[in-house]
Amino acid sequence: MNIIQKKIRKLFVSILFSMVFCTEITVAPCNAAEETVGDVIIITPEEELHEPDEKPIQLKQPDDFQAEAAKNGIKLRWKETQDAQQYEIYRKISGKDESFSLIKTTKKCTYTDKTAKYGVTYAYKVRTIAVLGEKTKKSPCSQIKRCRTYFVDPSKPMIALTFDDGPSIYTDGILDVLEANQSRATFFVLGNRVNSYKKTVLRIGKLGCEIGNHSYDHAILGNNSVSKIRSEISKTDKKIKALTGNTPVLLRPPYGSIGNNLKKNAGKPMILWSVDTLDWKSRNASTVYQHVMSHAKDGDIILMHDLYFSTRAAAKRIIPELKKRGYQLVTVSELAYYRGIEWKAGERYAQMWPQKH
Ligand SMILES: [Zn+2]
Repeated sequence: MNIIQKKIRKLFVSILFSMVFCTEITVAPCNAAEETVGDVIIITPEEELHEPDEKPIQLKQPDDFQAEAAKNGIKLRWKETQDAQQYEIYRKISGKDESFSLIKTTKKCTYTDKTAKYGVTYAYKVRTIAVLGEKTKKSPCSQIKRCRTYFVDPSKPMIALTFDDGPSIYTDGILDVLEANQSRATFFVLGNRVNSYKKTVLRIGKLGCEIGNHSYDHAILGNNSVSKIRSEISKTDKKIKALTGNTPVLLRPPYGSIGNNLKKNAGKPMILWSVDTLDWKSRNASTVYQHVMSHAKDGDIILMHDLYFSTRAAAKRIIPELKKRGYQLVTVSELAYYRGIEWKAGERYAQMWPQKH
């Protein structure tokens, strides 16, 4: 065999080896720089070349990796990956010149990073691990997801803005103002609009805002039949869960209609309001703005509708102004959490004013 033949043979063996073994001995370093996610380093020392005795499994990185701000940290989740036994989660501070470091190994497909510091944007990625005998196989890393934590000071005033009947073409404009002001709100959405505004619904969750259930098609639920009540609520829950992975915790009954049938079958706390802007009636941004400014106080739940141009215009003024006046704009669930209110399904809540001692 001449030298060229030898070289060709060696090259062929090495290619064959890397094709067969790449998942087994190739590890994308999760502490690599952000820009090199998913890159694969192949180590093929010639002296270790040998025929494999079993077909290695193809370990994939987790799909649909999501990071969302929550009141107690940053919630991560991803789809279960075939052949995965465990997952490794890596984190770094976004934009900082530092390596990713391993923060958690878990068997579950969800993890809340409670060590995340307030007001910091983190970058996360996750990968799959399978231990077979003495060998540990690791997948490349998932996509990087960034998420910012937020901070609520329980000793300071807070207000829950709520928007009903959407999403609509105006919802994103309201989200822009919330995002720019590091504020959050609760959106009580209609189930039959979810699929037309998928991106908006996902963005609501991503910004740490809350998605509540406002029935499927705005039916009067109060004393409707039990089967109608249940189907209106569960159809909406399913649409939201299928898209976001989360089931809404809260119900806002359309028209504020509450009856015994609904109380018994809501299965969720029912959220009304303490300030009604009547934005649907005036369709006037200044009227809505003035109403909020002259009524809003600590612990209020404010009713608006993200269906109108005028409400979006009002929100652009209301949100920064309330912040300027020292209010923290929080979701309804956050307001309840910081006010120490324990929900009961079928109960009605219209405000969460501070308790006077
Ligand atoms: Zn409504």
